[in-house]
Amino acid sequence: MDFELRSAREKLEREQRERKQRAKLKLEREKKAKDAAIKQREAIEASHRAKRVDAIEAQIKADQHMQESLIAGGGIVFERVFQAVPFQGIGDKIKLPPSCFTELSDQGAFDKGPLYFELSVDYRDNKKTTHSGVLEFTAEDGTVCLPPHVWSNLFSAQDHPMDVLLVQIRYIRLPKGSYAKLQPDNLGFSDLPNHKAILETILRQHATLSMDDVLSVSYGQVSYKLQVLELKPASSISVLETDIEVDIVSPEIVSDQPSQHVLRPLQFGKPESGTVEEGRYDYYKFSIDESTAEKVMAGSVKVIVKIDVEKDGADTDLYVSKHPILFPSLNQHEWSSHDVGSKTLILESKERALSSGTYSIGVYGFKGTVKYQVSVLVQESSSGAKVGERAVSSSSDVDTVECRNCKHSIPSRSIALHEVYCSRHNVVCDHPGCGIVLRVEEAKNHLHCEKCGQALQPVEMEKHLKVFHEPLSCGCGVVLEKVQMVQHQARDCPLRLIACRFCGDMVEAGNAAADVRDRMRGMSEHESTCGSRTAPCDSCGRSVMLKDMDIHQIAVHGKSS
Ligand SMILES: [Zn+2]
Ligand SMILES: [Zn+2]
Ligand SMILES: [Zn+2]
Ligand SMILES: [Zn+2]
Ligand SMILES: [Zn+2]
Ligand SMILES: [Zn+2]
Repeated sequence: MDFELRSAREKLEREQRERKQRAKLKLEREKKAKDAAIKQREAIEASHRAKRVDAIEAQIKADQHMQESLIAGGGIVFERVFQAVPFQGIGDKIKLPPSCFTELSDQGAFDKGPLYFELSVDYRDNKKTTHSGVLEFTAEDGTVCLPPHVWSNLFSAQDHPMDVLLVQIRYIRLPKGSYAKLQPDNLGFSDLPNHKAILETILRQHATLSMDDVLSVSYGQVSYKLQVLELKPASSISVLETDIEVDIVSPEIVSDQPSQHVLRPLQFGKPESGTVEEGRYDYYKFSIDESTAEKVMAGSVKVIVKIDVEKDGADTDLYVSKHPILFPSLNQHEWSSHDVGSKTLILESKERALSSGTYSIGVYGFKGTVKYQVSVLVQESSSGAKVGERAVSSSSDVDTVECRNCKHSIPSRSIALHEVYCSRHNVVCDHPGCGIVLRVEEAKNHLHCEKCGQALQPVEMEKHLKVFHEPLSCGCGVVLEKVQMVQHQARDCPLRLIACRFCGDMVEAGNAAADVRDRMRGMSEHESTCGSRTAPCDSCGRSVMLKDMDIHQIAVHGKSS
């Protein structure tokens, strides 16, 4: 009985224990579920809150953007995203689809003066902004046509025009610019004799400038990139019909291998050493002042350019030009020397007197890497040659006979002896027009070029053929040998630079003027157009075309030119 009682109590106790345990577990489970529910609700609420904040922020942003656009556009809001398409235009004027014309004109944009746009791209890690004017409204729907200047300021070289490249375009008002600071990518830009005028010409093709824009400037075969470092009064400006003060700061040259197109200054009588690789040019510049130029013209001094090289098989060519030809080359120069080894050039001109001004020297690596010394000297003209000539002519009072071998005049009393000796030791070159008398052993070193007849030593022949007779091609498409090419680039090439007689800029000569009357007056294509601008006549105030001003002055006012 006692046992039964105990076991019944134990059972009761066990059941109570188990109930308690279950209740506790249930409580814990319920609490867990409650907690989870709270957490979930909190999460949902948080996300709702966040969404609400996002929505509010988005709304604020949109309002701000609208506000900005309204302010930027001076009350006109025009924003589009178009696919960029390149086209070959000059300056910064883009082409938009016709639909934009309608929209902009509906908003009265055309009454507010020239149109400007802010263009931006934002993809991968490329985030760029620039500005532009508009050329016309003829682009295909959904596209914007960008000239090279705008294209290169928005996209990098890796961006292929065939990819879909999107540009955001926004109508914007820009203040008139008053100041720009530009930095060329390389030395030499400020050496251009008229770089300010060149810049003005470039800027005239632009409607806008933006900070960090890069402007490309071509001068003959050389091109420079100028980066916009500073603008006033704002970071993007209009350059239409404004006078902008332009500062050009020196480039930061970091590379060890400077560009070929740098002119190193050279002083008279102070040689400079250099090393030039095959196929490259080193350039130097020097100036001839008025008094030296006068002495050269009077014949009392000579200006000499010299190259000294160590004799190790490597070889240079030497070219000299007067500015505005800054970088003389095989194709374009006034003087050249192709002597093998060291060489000397005497600067004199058959066509016109040597004038004062700045000159450039080009040292070209013809073969191998060459160590050289270049120098420019002013040397007294020696009169030794003239004395020698007089000595020869003075012998003519003696009774003389011509040697049948060497054709020299020989006193008649010694002619028999001379002719015997002469025919044994001397030969006369029978190349037409040469007739030089050579010692028999020297004769094999005297050759004539088959193509041009120039007398040469055998060692010079290979170089002569390469320099003078290998065909060269000009940027304009013409193919000529060296001598004709130099003439072509100096006188005929449409790509040569000339100073416009009306605006004074250095411009490509272009073809002859289309207008017959202008062509007769020797005007280039550019001059014909440039001279069509009008200006008021000094005497009567009437508006006269620049190219007719002379005629007008003579015909109407009786002035002699
Ligand atoms: Zn003789
Ligand atoms: Zn000969
Ligand atoms: Zn020849
Ligand atoms: Zn040409
Ligand atoms: Zn002009
Ligand atoms: Zn007049």
